[in-house]
Amino acid sequence: MEKVLIIGGGASGMAAAIRAAEDPARRITLLERQARVGRKLSATGNGRCNLTNLEAEPRCYHGEDPAFTAPVLAAWPPRRVLEFFAGLGLKTVTEYGGRVFPMSGHAGSVLDVLRLGLEKPNITVVTGCTVDAVRRSGAGFSVSAGDQSFAADRLILACGGCAGAKLGGVMDGYALAASLGHSRTGLYPALTPMRTEPDYPRALKGIRVNALVRLIQGNRILAEAEGDVIFTDTGLSGTAVFALSRFAAGQRDLTAELCLFDEPGETLFADLSARRSRWSKLEANRILTGAVQPRLGQMLCRYAGIGGGAAAETLTDAQLRTLAGAMRSFRLPVTGVSGFEAAQVTAGGLRTSEFDPVTLGSRIVPGLYACGELLDVDGDCGGFNLQWAWASGLRAGELR
Ligand SMILES: Cc1cc2nc3c(=O)[nH]c(=O)nc-3n(C[C@H](O)[C@H](O)[C@H](O)COP(=O)(O)OP(=O)(O)OC[C@H]3O[C@@H](n4cnc5c(N)ncnc54)[C@H](O)[C@@H]3O)c2cc1C
Repeated sequence: MEKVLIIGGGASGMAAAIRAAEDPARRITLLERQARVGRKLSATGNGRCNLTNLEAEPRCYHGEDPAFTAPVLAAWPPRRVLEFFAGLGLKTVTEYGGRVFPMSGHAGSVLDVLRLGLEKPNITVVTGCTVDAVRRSGAGFSVSAGDQSFAADRLILACGGCAGAKLGGVMDGYALAASLGHSRTGLYPALTPMRTEPDYPRALKGIRVNALVRLIQGNRILAEAEGDVIFTDTGLSGTAVFALSRFAAGQRDLTAELCLFDEPGETLFADLSARRSRWSKLEANRILTGAVQPRLGQMLCRYAGIGGGAAAETLTDAQLRTLAGAMRSFRLPVTGVSGFEAAQVTAGGLRTSEFDPVTLGSRIVPGLYACGELLDVDGDCGGFNLQWAWASGLRAGELR
């Protein structure tokens, strides 16, 4: 029997174990430091687990060499990953933008079928087992975790990255790979909230809107994204903000511009004029009643310099034009991005040039493989990171 050790019982490690175990001549041992496998999975997609995206392709990924993802995504495209899950018993639904979720609406369903998939005679799962050292031993490996030790002919590193620390994100995988001669790029948090000047966001805390968000530096638009924006105590969160966070990391003098209404300024002005006539006696700062949530309407008015004391009929055309401008350009100075604690994914990781993009085998250490977030691959928001975790885990588990 060939002995295969997998370090990390997260998304990619579980997929690798199930795939590797398809060959009955292999004995698989999956080592997980936490008390149970797949802990992070339960928290994904706000508890719904956005498990893949039908539009996944290399352009959705980042790292020193995004093309590195191409052979793995070609071998395990989203549809084949979904067949893998259907084979485990999972039913799924596809929503806007190709995002796929379990039909149950619960991330737990994804974890449940994976756990059942791991129940095979040639798979042993060891939890509460933190691997602290990996050594070459003859043509194989010897692995230690406290006072336990394991021997393997082949070894798959599936330790994930350092994002989502509360859910188990740690630096271990990088250190274990380094001890075998591998190097990594710089690491930084991605898909994470942005901190802004807090005055407006704090007053709007909890409000969710759909907006086009532009990240601006000086007169230059660095990036833009459309989607959910959630106001928080410290700034902005939501899918559109997550998408921009990678461009904000390490940058200075940034502004987030929210375009809350995509109609032309003149159309907005005409609508505001009609509101001024219709609701002439209404408090001026309630003029956006019915257009946005009341708190947001009042904040937009405040941003445009319109207070609550006077009646709507006193608003001048110039004030309405300023308000129309604010509805298309609500600007907040960015003071930074949140750290690994709040990030969904680690940007950077093990250098992909040191791994074969077809097999995910190490070019430095024969018999060693790596998969998932540990590698220098991070995806856009929308199911792309789990797609990479499954696809690369399944590919590594083939042990080519
Ligand atoms: C809050 C949150 C929500 C997210 N939502 C989504 C989403 O909806 N869609 C999406 O595509 N992506 C989402 N992601 C990202 C996605 O969860 C990760 O990219 C994915 O889980 C990476 O899989 P992985 O197997 O590489 O790492 P992980 O799933 O992190 O698994 C790594 C495992 O290795 C274990 N480990 C680490 N070191 C050791 C050691 N020394 N010994 C033994 N075990 C070890 C860890 O405990 C962990 O269980 C989300 C992330 C977070 C934090």
